[in-house]
Amino acid sequence: MDQSLRPRKSLGQNFLVDDNIARKILRAAEILPDDVVLEIGPGKGALTKHLVGKAKHVVAVELDKRAANLLRQKFEKECAGGLLEIKEQDFLEFDLMKTAKRVGQGLRVVGNIPYYITSPILLKAIAQREAIQDLLILVQLEVGKRIVAEPNTKDYGILSVFCQFYATPKLLFKVPASAFFPRPKVVSALLRLDFPQKPVRDVLDEKLFVEVVRATFGKRRKTLRNSLQYLGLDGLDLSSLDFNLQLRPEQLALEDFVCLSNLIAKQVHASHNPKA
Ligand code: SAM
Repeated sequence: MDQSLRPRKSLGQNFLVDDNIARKILRAAEILPDDVVLEIGPGKGALTKHLVGKAKHVVAVELDKRAANLLRQKFEKECAGGLLEIKEQDFLEFDLMKTAKRVGQGLRVVGNIPYYITSPILLKAIAQREAIQDLLILVQLEVGKRIVAEPNTKDYGILSVFCQFYATPKLLFKVPASAFFPRPKVVSALLRLDFPQKPVRDVLDEKLFVEVVRATFGKRRKTLRNSLQYLGLDGLDLSSLDFNLQLRPEQLALEDFVCLSNLIAKQVHASHNPKA
């Protein structure tokens, strides 16, 4: 039956074929009987088959029609019994908030995802974090290292700051290329992101915080002063900002980015409301 599902590179299809690794991922997920799991890209069901026995309900979002059909056959009983729903859809367009509201609880998101859309998946999860309890995905090891990286390292960048600001990321263990078919050219790792219920740090203007991180890491080699002058913000006077703008973005810890963006926010808002 699986012959009908030749892996498509264009869909990032590297199927997990090592069941010991699948079990190890499931152990790390610590799924409880009351959990609702959203699986990204179930493929031929290597993880799905373990998830359906553990969670109260699984929503599996798969873009490939062939895989979705295969899963409907493989898990006919579970689908009929309401344990599993197969959504033939692009995860990047899937409404997590609507699903979380419908099931009345935060989702545990799990997946061996197509690596070429790792960043869009993370950014989507961050944007819809209110719907998510945690996220457990396989990523390319190099990308995982960037996500958990500390300041003053070459791996530290936009992904590190955003993932660490909105969630608590952890790299759990490596997965060798031999666990997949076809074998990817890279080593993988299991990444966990825990989303707190409320933002952990006080940012005065979240949009501005995002702009400051993007603008400064966009010109990584330049000083903060050099990159921030292109922000184009009315009322921003860099010379009177109480912050060392000779630094480069990779030298700033998360708290420093929060502090910098708050100082800019105060200045810009004060210039728009001079009497306030
Ligand atoms: N989970 C399966 C496994 O572990 O064997 C398949 C993993 S494979 C790396 C990625 C899966 O994501 C494929 O089944 C692919 O068709 C699916 N996929 C690719 N792009 C997708 C998207 N935008 N939304 C949902 N699924 C997608």
